[in-house]
Amino acid sequence: MSYVDEIIEAVVAKNPSEPEFHQAVKEVLNSLRPVVDANEDKYRREAILERLVEPERQMKFRVPWVDDKGQVQVNTGYRVQFNSAIGPYKGGLRLHPSVNLGIIKFLGFEQIFKNSLTGLPIGGGKGGSDFDPKGKSDREVMAFCQSFMTELCKYIGENTDVPAGDIGTGAREIGYLYGQYKRLTGLYEGVLTGKGLSYGGSLARTEATGYGLLYLTQEMLKMNGIDIAGKTAAVSGSGNVAIYAIQKAQQLGVKVLTCSDSNGWVYDPNGIDVAALKEIKEVKRARLTEYKNYRPNSEYHEGRGVWTVKVDLALPCATQNELHLEDAKALVANGVTAVAEGANMPTTLEATEYLQEQGVLFAPGKAANAGGVATSALEMSQNSERLSWTFEEVDAKLQGIMVNICHNMADAAERYGFAKNYVVGANIAGFEKVVDAMLAQGVV
Ligand code: NDP
Repeated sequence: MSYVDEIIEAVVAKNPSEPEFHQAVKEVLNSLRPVVDANEDKYRREAILERLVEPERQMKFRVPWVDDKGQVQVNTGYRVQFNSAIGPYKGGLRLHPSVNLGIIKFLGFEQIFKNSLTGLPIGGGKGGSDFDPKGKSDREVMAFCQSFMTELCKYIGENTDVPAGDIGTGAREIGYLYGQYKRLTGLYEGVLTGKGLSYGGSLARTEATGYGLLYLTQEMLKMNGIDIAGKTAAVSGSGNVAIYAIQKAQQLGVKVLTCSDSNGWVYDPNGIDVAALKEIKEVKRARLTEYKNYRPNSEYHEGRGVWTVKVDLALPCATQNELHLEDAKALVANGVTAVAEGANMPTTLEATEYLQEQGVLFAPGKAANAGGVATSALEMSQNSERLSWTFEEVDAKLQGIMVNICHNMADAAERYGFAKNYVVGANIAGFEKVVDAMLAQGVV
């Protein structure tokens, strides 16, 4: 049996009930076969893959808090510190009822390669809780965040582990978490990113993941002789990534026809109205059913459906496994040119393979959505030098990073004889740097 197959089998046996983690390991290791096969003896002797799939450390803890009725609630908190070969652990905190250890491990594992791809000195980690901020009062969210940080603060620090936002963790949650960290430790340091501008946040961090997704998509199309201007797009989700992806797409001359939330989706033939979307989601924290009040010509549909619309570009920006094989088939039947993942692992393995077989340009999340963590690393730099850069400076750096990522993934794919297979390219480019550092640092 090949080294890669042995490790995949061992991961499944050792981590039962963690299907998302299995999926991420399979996707990454399968695409690393050319590098692993070429270095098999050395990697086996150094147990590189065994070390790569085993988190350096994982914390699971109780998070008790009191709701508005005086009832004590208990959630589970997680922080997985996966790999620190190239820098302090870095990765978001997900607050969603679906969170469990397997989901955090899948995200932390992916984060290792994504962070490496940015070219910045950040290792891989991820955390979160099964707490659902939806429908909670500000006081309840604060109570949860303070309790969560009371435990988490023991494991993080500006030079060890720097968490950020993710699904369910936005500016409000980061603020409460930061306040409690400062209170407990007495330290005013860049321990979290995604902070508000008045206390150490970076301009353009809010926009970074969505903007970065479009910078990379634009470059990928350009490398293939296609101009992004004038194209149509379907976007899923209506959260942080989706909103700023739609905004940047429109600035680049793309008409975005859809967005969605976990209840339903919107089709707007005139292009999604970003100002309306922001008001509904960022100000009112309401559902997409409201969108029709702003745009009477739009349609609202319950359930899933954004991938049935005829578009040139598909940008999944909601959550994992939201673009299935039948969705991929519908997109291809409608003549889609490119799929670029704003969310983490939104496309199932079967759907990814089908899209690639059909010649659709496919940018994997670890490359396409790396703009968020890259700008988080820029926030860390600004915190370290106690300076703030302008929006234009940060945005220009972000654009440069995304263009570099695009070329690095394309070059790595070509070097190993997989031209235009950006999944293989992104995984190899991210992996090479991490493995170099792991080999140099010895058996740790
Ligand atoms: P938000 O919480 O801001 O938004 C998430 C969006 O996805 C919402 O519209 C939400 O709808 C929808 N959604 C969540 N879960 C489901 C589900 N199970 N089914 C259908 N829709 C769902 O999160 P972000 O925009 O920050 O994150 C989106 C994705 O991008 C995630 O995969 C995240 O890991 C990834 N990502 C985020 C980065 C960032 O900087 N924020 C960086 C890199 C990746 P509803 O409101 O109904 O829940």
